[in-house]
Amino acid sequence: MSYGLLVADVRRNVFEERNFDLLGFCSLLGVDPYILLPEGDYAINPSHFKKIIKVGLQEEEFLNPLNMAHVVERAIQEFGNPYAVILSSSSSGMEIAPYVAGYFKVPIITDVSNYDGESKIFYKSYYSDKVLGHFKVEDGNFFVVTVRSGSFKAQAKEKYGDVEYVTINVEKKTEKRSFLGYIEEERQEVDITKADFLISIGRGVGSKDEIPAYEELASLLKATLSASRPVTDKQWLPKERQVGTSGKTVKPKVYLAMGISGAFQHIAGMRDSECIIAVNKDPEAPIFQYAHYGIVGDMHKLRDKLREILKG
Ligand SMILES: Cc1cc2nc3c(=O)[nH]c(=O)nc-3n(C[C@H](O)[C@H](O)[C@H](O)COP(=O)(O)OP(=O)(O)OC[C@H]3O[C@@H](n4cnc5c(N)ncnc54)[C@H](O)[C@@H]3O)c2cc1C
Repeated sequence: MSYGLLVADVRRNVFEERNFDLLGFCSLLGVDPYILLPEGDYAINPSHFKKIIKVGLQEEEFLNPLNMAHVVERAIQEFGNPYAVILSSSSSGMEIAPYVAGYFKVPIITDVSNYDGESKIFYKSYYSDKVLGHFKVEDGNFFVVTVRSGSFKAQAKEKYGDVEYVTINVEKKTEKRSFLGYIEEERQEVDITKADFLISIGRGVGSKDEIPAYEELASLLKATLSASRPVTDKQWLPKERQVGTSGKTVKPKVYLAMGISGAFQHIAGMRDSECIIAVNKDPEAPIFQYAHYGIVGDMHKLRDKLREILKG
């Protein structure tokens, strides 16, 4: 069986959850997962992998795309061409993938969210899932692909009992670019990732003047207020309240989304919530595809009705 060369997504010695999407994607492609890992102690389950390849690079060197092109070159010398080099559609994956594709002059498909094994078509969505791009790779050399977080992890399988550990060393390290350090996030007053009940408001809220009434609703329901990106971009709520790919990933028991359309950058941050309730005046809003319960209507009217009931 051919293999998929997985570039692990790692940060500060943490093996990120989104790596499970790489594994699920390998299952769909029908290839064995060989994973590249930097030096360090990463908590991983070996039964997910056919081969675990330790690369003689520290994490910050490993995340450097110029080094990764050489790492992939070394892996190919050792194991032959993979079926594909597979990365997360994360900030590091999105940076490394085009360098690797350019270095080997092979095709690249980014941000794949679905795959049909029969037709061998890769799908990528645009404009908040309103348009779906279809991609096919011609047989021949390998290709590079990044996969969207949350799209494939359900297909990840623990099926390898005979994992092989190997080490490869990379002589060619780049001097052209160096890692300066991680920048700590500012200390947060509220941690939305810990809340059981989130009321999340989107652009549909309309104006900053409406926010206090939602804060009151959240307090009456013992919920925490979060938001989509337009709301934090306008500074109606602080950035620490933002849910999504460039905000926080949350998994509350209840996620009440009000006036949020359901762009994939938002969905990726909340799709694993136990119960999603969406309120939107547009019955065609994509958020309804992900919601367990949906209310088509005006968010402000619902807010005011709930406040009235809760205040007795
Ligand atoms: C690199 C990148 C990273 C991003 N990261 C994030 C991220 O982390 N988080 C994030 O959220 N977005 C992120 N985005 C932005 C994302 O693409 C969307 O633009 C954003 O999620 C849209 O927010 P929204 O749903 O609040 O607004 P809109 O898409 O404008 O939707 C507003 C919704 O409110 C509804 N509405 C209006 N008035 C009412 C009313 N009175 N009652 C009920 N419903 C009403 C409308 O029907 C509409 O569906 C990112 C974009 C990029 C390019």
